Amino acid sequence: MITLALSKGRIFDETLPLLEAAGIRIAEDPEKSRKLIIGTSRGDLRVVLVRASDVPTYVQFGGADLGVAGKDVLIEHGGDGLYQPLDLRIAKCRMSVAVRDDFDYAAAVRQGSRLRVATKYTLTARQHFSDKGVHVDLIKLYGSMELAPLTGLADAIVDMVSTGATLKANHLLEVERIMDISARLVVNQAALKLKREPLRALIDAIATALPP
Ligand code: ATP
Ligand code: MG
Repeated sequence: MITLALSKGRIFDETLPLLEAAGIRIAEDPEKSRKLIIGTSRGDLRVVLVRASDVPTYVQFGGADLGVAGKDVLIEHGGDGLYQPLDLRIAKCRMSVAVRDDFDYAAAVRQGSRLRVATKYTLTARQHFSDKGVHVDLIKLYGSMELAPLTGLADAIVDMVSTGATLKANHLLEVERIMDISARLVVNQAALKLKREPLRALIDAIATALPP
């Protein structure tokens, strides 16, 4: 049996067509079912539904043989024990710095003042500001980062941006792009040895299904 870890929402929705192109159908719609383990049209492949940030952990410790996780999540996880054979080029967005539209970010950085930055992505944020030589106090949040600059909790946020509509609706401005993000296929390194043939075949089938 091969176990594939996916998260509900955009990762699931965008992985589905890749699996279909590889000839694999998923037996149930996770939005309609409460099941956490779902079968597929292939008797030897099942899908487990986990939180997006838990995908690397499931794969690292063998709770799943492979999974799909955003680059953002993989950086924060560290990637230990994971083989990352494919950039699936799905769930695309970017990691950016945003501030209130009336906050002078350039001046704050120029003056070398200590910036208060709220984010879920503390490793990425720490690295980014350290590369720039900007001193920051990081505030770890788990969601709704947009609220932090509006309430005075932080001067800036590091968050995911796709269209920018959420930032705009909250009077925030994207002032720096840190990196482009997309989802990757991650594989448990031990499973890759023990289940070499079927895993290789599945990885190859998904690779072939990727749009050029
Ligand atoms: P959770 O909802 O469990 O807190 P999450 O918000 O990271 O976790 P999703 O919203 O499903 O989970 O996002 C999954 C992945 O999709 C992210 O890790 C990221 O790689 C990618 N992604 C693409 N666009 C966006 C976006 N606009 N906001 C957040 N994530 C995005
Ligand atoms: Mg989310």
